[in-house]
Amino acid sequence: MRIDLHTHSTASDGTDTPADLVRAAAAAGLDVVALTDHDTVAGHAEAARALPALDRPLTLVTGAELSCRIDGTSMHMLAYLFDPADQDLHRARELVRDDRVPRAQAMIAKLRDLGVPVTWEQVAAIAGDGSVGLPHIAAALVDLGVVPSVSDAFTPQWLADGGRAYAPKHELDPFEAVRLVKAAGGVTVFAHPGASKRGATVPDPVIAELVAAGLDGLEVDHVDHDAPTRDRLRALAKDTGALVTGSSDYHGTRKTVRLGECVTDPEVYVEIARRATGAQPISAV
Ligand code: AMP
Ligand code: FE
Ligand code: FE
Ligand code: ZN
Repeated sequence: MRIDLHTHSTASDGTDTPADLVRAAAAAGLDVVALTDHDTVAGHAEAARALPALDRPLTLVTGAELSCRIDGTSMHMLAYLFDPADQDLHRARELVRDDRVPRAQAMIAKLRDLGVPVTWEQVAAIAGDGSVGLPHIAAALVDLGVVPSVSDAFTPQWLADGGRAYAPKHELDPFEAVRLVKAAGGVTVFAHPGASKRGATVPDPVIAELVAAGLDGLEVDHVDHDAPTRDRLRALAKDTGALVTGSSDYHGTRKTVRLGECVTDPEVYVEIARRATGAQPISAV
């Protein structure tokens, strides 16, 4: 079984439509894929509708990646198999999502002050129906020839957290996120907790507190983690009793990572599905 529990579609900042994403997951030889767009469940229905026409069986795990911040440090919380209709969690997602437009506009204003002729219309066209985020602004900077690639836009000079053109958006307290997802019958995994090239990371003692508060797992195997970081996080997971996952964090052509580049052990996937009461994995047939 090949299991990838972290992907993005055009419902947020990926470049594959949800239907294309499940087709790509099947073509990549995956058996299970989770769709975890930033702060939205908007892609789930289309992804599920595409399952029956696949030429090999694929199970869809519904999820989202919730934008959180603690003590000034940004962090992402993967949430799986929660009840999408749960009102408290829905409102929390909306608070973040609704703030993405004014936040992007604030960043565009900063970029224009820095002499970059980027416009809201340009970024909105790139984001399309997806919840607008930094990679869409980064793509506009690539189109304008300001930086050679999307990842080159994530520097203090441009879009990095605290960078010249950065503006904050509303983000959830991770303890509150864990509580909300649990109350909605879902399971939580701290996304790329050691991705230090994105900025400051959450200290291990705070991660341990989150696990004590109900966080289910740590995404240990991720392309942004080097081998020593994976070893450290694996030991932390063992000490705290957290589950260990691995996933690609696929964003289509906006990142170089391939589907299934990191994967999750089948026993861990079974445990995640077992813990979830808000929704169950979706298989065609
Ligand atoms: P946002 O949700 O709008 O705050 O944007 C965060 C997203 O930007 C992340 O989920 C990544 O897709 C992307 N991102 C953040 N830092 C980097 C980085 N250093 N390189 C490439 N993409 C990044
Ligand atoms: Fe992203
Ligand atoms: Fe993330
Ligand atoms: Zn992600």
